[in-house]
Amino acid sequence: MAKRFPKSVPPESVSTLRERRTFPFFCEVYVPLSPQVFTYGVAENSGIMRGSVVWVQLAKRKPMLGLVAKVISEVPSFNVKEAVPHASHYVFDERYMEILEWTAKYYLATPMQALSVFLPRDFGKYLDALVANMEIPEKPVEVIASPEFTGEQKVAYAKLAELLEQEGFRGTLLHGVTGSGKTRVYMELAKLALSEGKRVLVLVPEIGLAPQTAERFSAFLGFDVPVLHSALSAPKKRLAWLSILSKKAKIVLGTRSAILTPFAFDLVIIDEEHDSSYKQEDSPPRYHAREVAFHAAYKYGALVVLGSATPSLETFYAANSGNLSYLTLSRRATETSLPAVHLVDMHKKARLQQAGLLLSAELREALTRTVANGYQAIILMNRRGYSKSRVCAECGSTFYCKACKIPLVYHKQYGGLLCHYCGRLYPLNMPCPECGSSEYEFVGGAIEKLEEEISEWVPEAKVVRMDRDTTQNVGAAEKILSDFRDCKYSVLLGTQIVAKGHDFPGVQLVGVVGADSGSGVPDFRAGERLFQLLSQTSGRAGRAKEGGEVFLQTNKPDDPIIRFAIHHDYAGFAKEELLSRNEAMYPPYCKVASIELGSKDENMLHTKANAFGEELSKKAGLQVLGPVDSYIPQVKNVFWMNLLIKAPSAAVIRQALAKLPQDLDVRVNIDPL
Ligand code: ADP
Ligand code: ZN
Ligand code: ZN
Repeated sequence: MAKRFPKSVPPESVSTLRERRTFPFFCEVYVPLSPQVFTYGVAENSGIMRGSVVWVQLAKRKPMLGLVAKVISEVPSFNVKEAVPHASHYVFDERYMEILEWTAKYYLATPMQALSVFLPRDFGKYLDALVANMEIPEKPVEVIASPEFTGEQKVAYAKLAELLEQEGFRGTLLHGVTGSGKTRVYMELAKLALSEGKRVLVLVPEIGLAPQTAERFSAFLGFDVPVLHSALSAPKKRLAWLSILSKKAKIVLGTRSAILTPFAFDLVIIDEEHDSSYKQEDSPPRYHAREVAFHAAYKYGALVVLGSATPSLETFYAANSGNLSYLTLSRRATETSLPAVHLVDMHKKARLQQAGLLLSAELREALTRTVANGYQAIILMNRRGYSKSRVCAECGSTFYCKACKIPLVYHKQYGGLLCHYCGRLYPLNMPCPECGSSEYEFVGGAIEKLEEEISEWVPEAKVVRMDRDTTQNVGAAEKILSDFRDCKYSVLLGTQIVAKGHDFPGVQLVGVVGADSGSGVPDFRAGERLFQLLSQTSGRAGRAKEGGEVFLQTNKPDDPIIRFAIHHDYAGFAKEELLSRNEAMYPPYCKVASIELGSKDENMLHTKANAFGEELSKKAGLQVLGPVDSYIPQVKNVFWMNLLIKAPSAAVIRQALAKLPQDLDVRVNIDPL
C-alpha cells in the first residue's frame, strides 16, 4: 500500500514574507517559464546553495518552486523577498545544473524555459513523497528465459562489454536490421552494467513502445524497471521519480524527456535512434535527446549505444568517420529472411480508372489471404481524415481555413471539415464562399476512407485504426497496440506511428498506401524520412515466421529512394544521400538552424525579416537561405516567414543569433528535423 502524503503546499511563511534588503546572502533563482532570473534573500543557516529547491514568490502570485542558480553576497539595489527551502532540502548536483544550463545555451533557450521540461509539472509532489519517506515497493518479476545469442549478437555484445569497462566517452552505433535482436543485446549489456554497480538509462521512441520494452527488460532482469513516458499513470510516474530523486534507481527506461532527469547514467542506450520523437519541436528548448546524451557522456564519461535498422545520416556518418564505433547485425535473430517487397504502380493504375479506390487489387488479395490464414497485417497510410479536400461541385473551388489558408480535410469521425494547423472544425455543408452553391465533392482519399474500403472488401478482417484522431486519450495508443498483440484485431491500420519498432510475431503482411516522397514539404531530410518509413514499416512483416510480404503502393515506382528501400539497401541509400548532402552542403557536413519569424502585421514582418536576413548574411562563415514565406504562411491570422542558416559549427550559429529581431514572434530551432 502506498503511503498517503500531503499535497505540495508552500510553508505559510512564504506568502507572509515582507520585502527587505537585509539578508546575509542573496540567491538567483530559475523559476520555470519566468521571463528572467530573479533575486531573493537567503536567511542565516538556511542551507541554500546552487541546485537547492526553493519556494519563491513572483510579485503577488502564488509561491512557486524554483532552482537556485547561485548564491551571491552583493546586496541588490532593490528590496527582495526570501527564498525558502523546500521541506525536503533537496539539492540538485552540479552535473544536473550544468546539463540544464548547457541545454538552454545550445538550443538558444533560457534556463527557465529549459527547467519547464527538465522538471515535471507535479515535481513538488514527488519531493513531498520523498519527505514522507514513501516506500518504493520492490516487486520481483518472474524471469523469462531468453534464447541463446546468435553468432552476430555474441560478437556485438563482446565488443559492447569491452567498451563498458573503459572510461570517459565511448559511443557505438549498433546497426541491426529489423528483428535482428538488438533489444536482446541491450538487455544483456544492461544486466552486465547493473552487476558492476553502473547506472543504465534506456530510451525508446514516443508512442506505445515504452510499456512493451519495459516489460521485456523487467522479465529479463527479474524486477520492475522504473518507466517514464507521457501515458503513464500518476502513481507509476511518482514511483519512477521517487526512485530517481532518492538515487535508488539503477536503471530507468523512458521516452525523450527521461534524458533530462537527474539520473547520472554510466550507460545510455537509445533504441531506434533515428526516430524523430527524440527531438522536441513544439516549444523551447527544442532539444534532441541524443545530443543531450552525447553532451553528458563527453563531459562526465559514459557509454552511448545508438541502435537502429535505419540510422540517421548524422549517426552513420559519425560511425564512418570513426567518432563512433560501428557494430552490425545483418540477419534476423529468428533466422527468417527479410520480407519480399512488391511495388504496386498506382500511376499506371490511375490511368486504368480504378474507380476511386485507395486499395489496389494486389494488396486487397494479399490481405484476404493473410486474414484467411490466421495471420495479421499492418497497413500504413500517412494521411489523417476521410478525404484530402472538399471541392465545390459548381465552381470547383477548394475550401480553405479562413485563418490558415490551407485546404480543409473532411473527417467523418468529427462530421466536419478540420483545419490540420489550427484545429478549427467547420461544418460540412456550408455553402461555397465563392459561388454560394451547396453541392460539393470530395477529392483524394485518406485513412478513414481506407478503413471503410478494407471493411467492405475484406469483411473477414477485424480492423483497428491508430492515428492522432483515435489516440487522443491517455492510454489509447497502448490499448490499441496491446489488443492487436493479443490478436483481438487482424489488421492494424495507421499513420506513421505504426511504423515504429514494434515486434508483433503474427504480422506476415505489411501494406503502404501512398508511398511517396514527403507531403510536398521542401526539406532536405524528405528522402531520409521516406527511406526510414518504408524500411521500418516493412520490417514489421514476417518477424517470427518465413514468408513475410510487403506491398508498396506508389505513384513513383522509379524513385531511387523507393528502389533502395525495396532491396533493403541501407548502405546504397546512405552513400547516395550523403553524396548529395555534401554537394548541397547540409548536415552532417554542416550545422543548420531554422528561424521562424511571425507577426500579425504582414508588412512589418516582411521588412524586419528581410533586414534580419541581410544582417545575418554579412556574418562570416554563415550561409543564409531566405527569408521566405513559411510552408504554412499563416496560422490563426499570424503570418510566418522562415530563414535557414548553415554554419560550420553550432558555436558560429549561436553567435550569429545572439541578437534576434524585436517585436516579432521568434522561434529558433537548432538542428531542426
Ligand atoms: P530488434 O530489437 O533488433 O528489432 P528484437 O530484440 O526485438 O529485435 O528481436 C526480434 C525477435 O527475435 C524477438 O521476437 C526476439 O525474441 C527474437 N530473438 C532475439 N534474439 C534471439 C535469438 N538469439 N534467438 C532466437 N530469437 C531471438
Ligand atoms: Zn462554388
Ligand atoms: Zn486553420
